[in-house]
Amino acid sequence: MQVFKFGGASVKDVASLRNVSLVLSQYAKEPTIVVVSAMGKITNKLEALVNAYFYKEGDVIGVLQEIKDFHTSILDGLFSSKTAAIYDEIENVFVELLWALEDEPSFSYDYHYDQIVSQGEVLSTKIVSAFLKEKDFPNKWLDARDVIQTDNSYREGRVNYELSQKLTESTLLPLLKQYPLVITQGFIGGTSENFTTTLGREGSDYTAALLAYFCNANKVVIWKDVPGVLNADPKYFKNTKKIAELSYHDAIELTYFGVSVIHPKTIKPIQNKNIPLYVKSFIKPEEPGTLIKDGDKRNTIPSYIFKTDQILLSIQPKDFSFIAEDNLSAIFNLFSKYQVKVNMMQNSAISFSVCTDYDKHKVDPLIEELQGQFKVLYNTGVQLMTIRNYDQDTVTKLSADKIVLIEQRSRQTMQMVMKEE
Ligand code: ASP
Ligand code: MG
Repeated sequence: MQVFKFGGASVKDVASLRNVSLVLSQYAKEPTIVVVSAMGKITNKLEALVNAYFYKEGDVIGVLQEIKDFHTSILDGLFSSKTAAIYDEIENVFVELLWALEDEPSFSYDYHYDQIVSQGEVLSTKIVSAFLKEKDFPNKWLDARDVIQTDNSYREGRVNYELSQKLTESTLLPLLKQYPLVITQGFIGGTSENFTTTLGREGSDYTAALLAYFCNANKVVIWKDVPGVLNADPKYFKNTKKIAELSYHDAIELTYFGVSVIHPKTIKPIQNKNIPLYVKSFIKPEEPGTLIKDGDKRNTIPSYIFKTDQILLSIQPKDFSFIAEDNLSAIFNLFSKYQVKVNMMQNSAISFSVCTDYDKHKVDPLIEELQGQFKVLYNTGVQLMTIRNYDQDTVTKLSADKIVLIEQRSRQTMQMVMKEE
């Protein structure tokens, strides 16, 4: 039993979808759970839809139509007959979306986000499943919300392991005895009240790892448009190197700091059951990719992780009191309340600095509430550079024409918050 995960890039158009079926025909030689993300950049489009709806920030119907046209053109490219049942299935998803969008928002932003954005995965998996059936690939579509159970922390659903384990045994494992492939959604879960939650952006890898954990899979393969885990993002760096093998420990460190090939939450479930994870190219599936497994071999290749659109906050008690436990706990409570994740932090006697992704809908209200108690200074448009296995030469090179606002070093890792000169 194995788990495959196909991300947005692997199902972004008709040619890619045909390639998925090719990869499956060659590599799914044993019962396989296929976890699929929303197609291409559809999750971003759905986020724009939620914003248009909730914040009245745009044209709801127009954005919805764009999303629908995208999926219809995929259907037209995949299916020869427009009367195929899948056309109705997809139409129904859009009808329900439209109904939901006609009502005024009545709950939190995060709640509505999850009900709407989750549909990207519902659409993609329905299409993949129908297409594979048409290609004579027997498979079963499974609603991931019937298996992955979470609490109601919308947009960051916390998985109930015990319940999800039970549901895997009663719902998913029997299907795997009947069908060679089970197709399901990444990224989404369900609550005890049958609402939909999401697991955080890029969370489909996490779903794949969870399902592997619950099923005791013998491996997970994440199919990507890159040859494996690289030591740097080719978007920012030339001459990137593929890392052939990583221990769970190195993998969790790298993904935590932002290596975007796999979601950081992916490692824990597979580490806990010692399940190997392969990151492989869906363009060159015969190549070995990167293997992440148990081991004490330390990765010594320097890795560079570059994050843009950061904000650096400097938080100071108004009364000149020290940054001590009580202040810190008040600050962290607010970060957790607004679900703002700390990418780097540093404190001095009377100031606490935090670097985080600048999502204005979360960070602006956080700053406002912090300002009740603290003086808050901030710098937007800053970059965070993390180097694992650093050496002084590269540090100097990478910070050459930048102003370094904060720098931190441990034995293996160094981080710099920088801005352009
Ligand atoms: N579709 C979701 C996203 O883009 C989940 C994923 O791709 O893993 O964030
Ligand atoms: Mg995606």
